[in-house]
Amino acid sequence: MAVYAGPVQDLIDELGRLPGIGPKSAQRIAFHLLKLSRDDAARLARSIVDAKDRVTFCRQCFNIAEGSVGALCAICSDDRRDRSVVCVVEEPRDIVAVERTGEYRGRYHVLQGAISPIEGVGPDQLRVKELLARLDDEGVEEVILCTNPNIEGEATALYLGRLLKPLVARVSRIASGLPVGGDLEYADELTLGRALEGRRDVDT
Ligand SMILES: [Zn+2]
Repeated sequence: MAVYAGPVQDLIDELGRLPGIGPKSAQRIAFHLLKLSRDDAARLARSIVDAKDRVTFCRQCFNIAEGSVGALCAICSDDRRDRSVVCVVEEPRDIVAVERTGEYRGRYHVLQGAISPIEGVGPDQLRVKELLARLDDEGVEEVILCTNPNIEGEATALYLGRLLKPLVARVSRIASGLPVGGDLEYADELTLGRALEGRRDVDT
């Protein structure tokens, strides 16, 4: 139901497509943007386009990487990182959460989501194939399943645990103790650091 003039409604519709922005928030943000000076609005628009142009996903782990397609992220291009351990997370922002703990020196693999039958996301929609390809190529000895402690994250960890167990020397899951139903990004670094340290072998 379009109640506003064309361009305003278009803006509200676009904002409403963003994650976590409902119709009311979309409307509030749209009217805030309309009050901005033209310069401020142009700066915001430019930063979106700039980020799209200059940021890509790492060809190895699917973290955010600066540069064009085929670039490696800062972690994959750091030779001091332990190649034998891979921490599997759902999104690049989870890497930031684990890095904040200062406890982890291995590498990562970003699934770009989690298994969710309700939303029609299965293993094929995630970067699982790419993870399997890395195991041999990089001599991976341990995979740490660091998906979120909610239904989707647990389902993903269960699936990957079964899949990876026969293929890697050690498959572990971060310890419980994180707030259940929450996201890794909201866990403080001490709690997440402990969960990482207290990880347990996956048994299937
Ligand atoms: Zn990478």
